[in-house]
Amino acid sequence: MNSPADNQLDTPAMRQYRSFKEQHPGYVLFFRMGDFYETFYEDAKLVSRVLGLALTSRSKGASAVPLAGLPYHALDGYLARLIQAGHRVAICEQVEDPAQAKGLVKRDVVRLITPGTLTEDNLLDRREGNFLACLFDPSNSAVAGPGAPGAGGTASGGNARQVGIAWAELSTGSFQTMLAPAANAVDELVRIHPAEVLVSDGSALDSPAFRQSLRSCLGATLTTRPPWAFDAKAALDLLKDHFKTATLEGFGFDGYEPSLSAAAAIVDYLRETQKNALDHLVALRKFDRGNCLLLDANTIRSLEILRTLRTGQRAGTLLACVDATQTGMGARLLERWLTFPLRSYSDILARQDAVEELAADPARLSALREHLANFSQIDRIAANIALCRVKPRELLGLKESLARLPQMAKLTESCHSGLLSGLSGLAGKLAPTCELIARAIHPDAPPLLREGGVMADGFDGELDRLRRVGSDGQSWLAQYQAQQVARTGIASLKVGYNKVFGYYLEVTHTHAQKVPPDFVRKQTLKNAERYITDELRRYESEVLTAQDRSLALEAHLFESVRAELAQAVPLLQAAAAAVAALDVLAGFAHLANARRWRRPSITQEPLLHIVAGRHPVLEEALGQKFVPNDVHCDADNRLLIITGPNMAGKSTYIRQTALLVLLAQTGSFIPAESATIGLADRIFARVGAADELAAGLSTFMVEMLEAANILNNATARSLVVLDELGRGTSTYDGLALAWAVSEHLALRLRCRSLFATHYHELTELEELIDGVANLNVAVREWADEVIFLHKIVGGSADRSYGVHVARLAGLPRDVLERARQILPKLQAHLAEGLDVPALAKKAATAQMNLFADPASRVARAIKDLDLDNLTPLAALDLLRKFKTQL
Ligand code: ADP
Repeated sequence: MNSPADNQLDTPAMRQYRSFKEQHPGYVLFFRMGDFYETFYEDAKLVSRVLGLALTSRSKGASAVPLAGLPYHALDGYLARLIQAGHRVAICEQVEDPAQAKGLVKRDVVRLITPGTLTEDNLLDRREGNFLACLFDPSNSAVAGPGAPGAGGTASGGNARQVGIAWAELSTGSFQTMLAPAANAVDELVRIHPAEVLVSDGSALDSPAFRQSLRSCLGATLTTRPPWAFDAKAALDLLKDHFKTATLEGFGFDGYEPSLSAAAAIVDYLRETQKNALDHLVALRKFDRGNCLLLDANTIRSLEILRTLRTGQRAGTLLACVDATQTGMGARLLERWLTFPLRSYSDILARQDAVEELAADPARLSALREHLANFSQIDRIAANIALCRVKPRELLGLKESLARLPQMAKLTESCHSGLLSGLSGLAGKLAPTCELIARAIHPDAPPLLREGGVMADGFDGELDRLRRVGSDGQSWLAQYQAQQVARTGIASLKVGYNKVFGYYLEVTHTHAQKVPPDFVRKQTLKNAERYITDELRRYESEVLTAQDRSLALEAHLFESVRAELAQAVPLLQAAAAAVAALDVLAGFAHLANARRWRRPSITQEPLLHIVAGRHPVLEEALGQKFVPNDVHCDADNRLLIITGPNMAGKSTYIRQTALLVLLAQTGSFIPAESATIGLADRIFARVGAADELAAGLSTFMVEMLEAANILNNATARSLVVLDELGRGTSTYDGLALAWAVSEHLALRLRCRSLFATHYHELTELEELIDGVANLNVAVREWADEVIFLHKIVGGSADRSYGVHVARLAGLPRDVLERARQILPKLQAHLAEGLDVPALAKKAATAQMNLFADPASRVARAIKDLDLDNLTPLAALDLLRKFKTQL
């Protein structure tokens, strides 16, 4: 910033600007000056860069101050773009009427707007949550990124270092907290999907590496808070103060100190930024990770649950595919259900029962969905009521939605499912709220309170009178004139109005002597006199001020109605939650009917049987052309090795399997003819190495990090889906690693695993290890053409058809021809005579030798055995295998 000593800049307004700017470091300051919000210095440059506003300067020459302004009425649009770009904005308003101001206009920062604290409808996406999260690490050492090796995390948490995570949504009032192993902190943040994350200033989390990790995994803004905001004792006091309780014991937070610190830091930040009551954050819910299926950041990304890998868009994701919800509340809840699927058998069954019941009665289902389609976002409206930001039309939307509740309750009251029958109680309790809005708010209320005409006629006697004064003015004047004519006997007496003198009674000079004494002369014309009376003067002042007074009265009445409605906020939140759940379940039921999805049977056994399963997203695109496939995975077939040409459908098959298990654990029906799905505690999916060069990691490093995460954290109840492994290194290395990983999965972890690979050598594992089964994708060859049948069949692929696929991709004809010549020679172990670079020769020979001789294979297997961890039973199994091979 330029020196304040500079005379040109040392105006009172600039001094005022600088003082606000100093009080709000890290914020772009929008400084209201008349009809504009002005920004100066670095802010002006930033705003001009991000928003494309013209950059000018306030004075010329050396002391020029960069300046960029935007018209006040265009604020929302610009604000949305700045916030989306991750910036924080402080809005500094004129808090007194400039016309009345003596000297410098009083200003104040009325609101701090940050990415994670939005509440305005036009700044929010209807179908996406807007969360503010806080991550607190009491030990203050580095929190590893997603899938970091040796981070010590276990599926159950174990003794790993715990961090506290809290997250709140200001626009709805939801507020939760959890403890998580430090190694899983970023994974959990990815699931929460916050727009902004708070961390302690100067902590290990407040580092460029963590910032980068958050940006790349989440696109969230990182905001640092002073360390005292996390102090355990102060946190407890702050939360007690917020929840107005003497103790938090009733909440059951023993041992949750780090997460309480995180929660308190959130309340503290919200208090500071909102300058407003936060009454709608009525409870802090403890979230237990053990109750849900765990998904890490890689899995969420690999399975394209929320965003596609290639475009980063919502379209084409699982979320978009299964979103048949009608309300924003439902869509937002669906995202939660997909990223936090269930693990409890009874909870899943409860949802399935509800879906089945809804799907069984299509007429009722469509009536319900019709109501939902016309339902407002009552959770966000409730929050705006609590935050004193609610707009008149939001209240009308709320009223219309509440008026639908009794009809929706009637439609669901006969349901057996407890998830569906809860509406009637709420409908009854909210009836007075609905009536209050109907009585108070005019059905044609304008968007903004300041426009007037918001309160309904008949709601307040004084307001009605003031409005009449304005609108009935003409008839009152006519009546008054008639009265005065009768009283004075002057037939030509007239009431009139002029801008300078106001209202008057006009009497021609001819009748001057008939004028009564209470007429006070005001103005003399050529042939008439104009008078005023006390009554007319009173009327005049009333008319002139009636509009102002009625506006002020409306604001007062609106506020009192708002305050009364605020009492109902917890009930409104409960209704919003019930309607959102109904919406998601009705959406599932709709999909079940519309797309022939079936109810999977759920079991505690770690098995997986799917008959004619389909990939939900791909089926949408391909329709009838999609080829359904079965999956049979259980103790006898734990590790399925899928080989086959590129483009055959391996990847689709294994991802589809993971998606169907995930969907089943949300309670949804699934695209399959029938299925039995054993509950999984975690799903791991790693699909192709993403390009993380920006994070300074090579493709191979990323692959190995992801594999390490899986091998360190999977349990016997997990589902592991691997799409190619070992590609980022030499064939020899890659194959060895893929082999070892497969053994670990099949022998140590013994979890259900599907491994799609181009290493044909891995198919030999079927022979070596019980529980390994080979699958491949059927291909038909026809006149030198390869036709992909996309059908998964037992056994290993005989060829890889790489050359055929390369032809499909348009590789030059002579290259293909040359490859065709080389291939059979390679296959016949004739590498020696080939004119290929020596290294490739060596690798090819080594690879073939390694897997050609059974004796050396057995010797190698014995050499690599980890005897300390081999059960007698497994040893016996192996011995039998070795014997067969030799
Ligand atoms: P791979 O992993 O074997 O290289 P993919 O699974 O990526 O192959 O599939 C390649 C393409 O094949 C997909 O984009 C899709 O168009 C098609 N495909 C895959 N599976 C099926 C299927 N079951 N039915 C119809 N088309 C499929």
